[in-house]
Amino acid sequence: MEFFTTPSNHFLKNKEALHMPQLNNTIEILKILDRTNCGDCGEKTCLAFAAEVFNGRKTLGQCPHIDPETLKKFGGEISTRSTLEEDQQKAFDEMKEKISRIDLCEKAEAVGGECRGPALILKVFGKNVKVAPDGTLSSDIHINPWIALPIFNYILSCGGAPESGTWVPFRELKDGKAWQGLFRRQCETPLKNVADRYTDLFNDMIELFNGKKVDNHYDSDISLALRPLPKIPMLICYWRPEDGLESDLNLFFDPATDQNGGTEMVYYLTAGIAKMFGKIAARHGVSV
Ligand code: SF4
Repeated sequence: MEFFTTPSNHFLKNKEALHMPQLNNTIEILKILDRTNCGDCGEKTCLAFAAEVFNGRKTLGQCPHIDPETLKKFGGEISTRSTLEEDQQKAFDEMKEKISRIDLCEKAEAVGGECRGPALILKVFGKNVKVAPDGTLSSDIHINPWIALPIFNYILSCGGAPESGTWVPFRELKDGKAWQGLFRRQCETPLKNVADRYTDLFNDMIELFNGKKVDNHYDSDISLALRPLPKIPMLICYWRPEDGLESDLNLFFDPATDQNGGTEMVYYLTAGIAKMFGKIAARHGVSV
């Protein structure tokens, strides 16, 4: 099964370090940095620095602003490198195990699902997905691996907050500013590229993923609401190129997303959707 996490390194070399907590991917490294993009490490952004550390070309200690306690906690060395597949499988197994330890029926109301026997039924893009007590996912639709982890995350973290019926950009979600650059690169820009070249994108979103056209928000040419998870609505607004202006695509979320899954879950979920549409477009012979 393939996930969209980045490959991991373990920041540990010696035997004592084996007892240190590990940072398993670029995002985890990014989270412990200042995220001010000050450039004092020689990289333009903290994300670029995190990627360099992750790939073993820099060490955590080369950020002059990292808190000494944090540096001590995580160490700064890279030792063994696990494969992407191993990391993917590990992440999936860990989440599945966490799911198997909770009472899914007790969670049903909060996550907007339905209890059927010991299983939980969730609407994913409006289609039923069954979550068995051991965490096995099954559905009439293909469960894309990019969506499997966000589903687990959602079940574990959804607080069941009521939706406000309003939309805010991703950066206005809690911690959204810190994730905004990554979100733009991995989610909005790839979806915009698909929309630019693949004219049937929005029709396919409606057909395949129960999308609904809504009144054009923010003067966009196309506004489409999706519901990838029961309490995570998502608004896609697309502006066609016009009069020398480039096209644009922005995504908006209900403010209750902060309580119903959070920024990181939404980031991974949306990156998965962007990848899915990239694949669908590629299948139609469109290079994106
Ligand atoms: S020096 Fe540290 S805080 Fe500044 S850009 Fe580099 S990683 Fe980010």
